[in-house]
Amino acid sequence: MIIVVKPDAREKDINEIIALLETNGLKVHISQGTQRTIIGVIGDKSRLAETPIELMTGVEKIVHIMEPYKLVGRAFRPEGSVIDIKGRQIGGHELCMIAGPCAVESREQIMKAAQDVKAGGAKFLRGGAYKPRTSPYAFQGLELEGLKLLREAADSVGLLAVSEIMSEYDLDNAAKYIDVIQIGARNAQNFRLLKEVGKTGLPVLLKRGIAETIDEWLGAAEYIMSEGNYRVILCERGIRTFESSTRNTLDVSAIPVIKLKSHLPIIVDPSHASGKSSFVKPLAMAGIAAGADGLIVEVHPDPKAALSDAIQQLNAAEYYELCDCIKQLAQIMKRGYGDE
Ligand code: PEP
Ligand code: MN
Repeated sequence: MIIVVKPDAREKDINEIIALLETNGLKVHISQGTQRTIIGVIGDKSRLAETPIELMTGVEKIVHIMEPYKLVGRAFRPEGSVIDIKGRQIGGHELCMIAGPCAVESREQIMKAAQDVKAGGAKFLRGGAYKPRTSPYAFQGLELEGLKLLREAADSVGLLAVSEIMSEYDLDNAAKYIDVIQIGARNAQNFRLLKEVGKTGLPVLLKRGIAETIDEWLGAAEYIMSEGNYRVILCERGIRTFESSTRNTLDVSAIPVIKLKSHLPIIVDPSHASGKSSFVKPLAMAGIAAGADGLIVEVHPDPKAALSDAIQQLNAAEYYELCDCIKQLAQIMKRGYGDE
């Protein structure tokens, strides 16, 4: 259930509504929009049957939500969410670019990647420290050392750091060294992990699961938000289909669908969607043209020497070319890129 508060409601009226809900054992989530306040109510509402909440001063209307997700739904924040991360916004006017290598491999590699990424206009540096590899014998990432190197590299050029965390055990390290926790496709429905990530309050980049429907994906985001962490960014990274020409199939239609169903920003990962560096630019352009709020792209100083995902990583020149195209496309989409 969602309670839409009247635009002219006083703080006292809102507090009275909240108090009534809480004394009835309900969990309250507040969305303070630019136009009005919306109160999300979670829990067993049967006890409220006696109380005509509609009649309380300050209440404009009650909206009953049928979907299994409530806080991620558009109705909770009709104007859309702009996620603020240390002064950088995702979901606002400016398209966001998150770029960097698949994995942090060495100080030299991540330092060079950070310089390239920054020069193209990105505000965020990515780099995996805990890598979800299909084989346990493949490079698993530098783990804690990788997070420290990513932090150092991001700080050296003034970028924010994004990295995947695969387990609850690593959340303390995440809080210490990175600015955005990435939840990968393989952990997209690890509900215990999602809840714990929700409790940290750190911004979360939530990838779509390998074979996840949009409603399941929104359900996963709801797990994070239901713990009080509203800074969630969705990432379409391709889904598994019968088509084998590309690593995954980028579901471009997910972008307008998410924009309709949810207020959360959505970005696109053309690297994991395609699995091939030459396909990254066309898929990135398609994602932005469809209304995505940004991109996460794999960029490596020397892709052929990469320890993971060598075939899909862009070199610096390819990345700059992509950034130029995104800057031009941003104008058509009435967005900005690299201006701020
Ligand atoms: C990644 O971004 O490093 C990654 C492993 O992506 P995904 O979880 O989408 O496969
Ligand atoms: Mn990768």
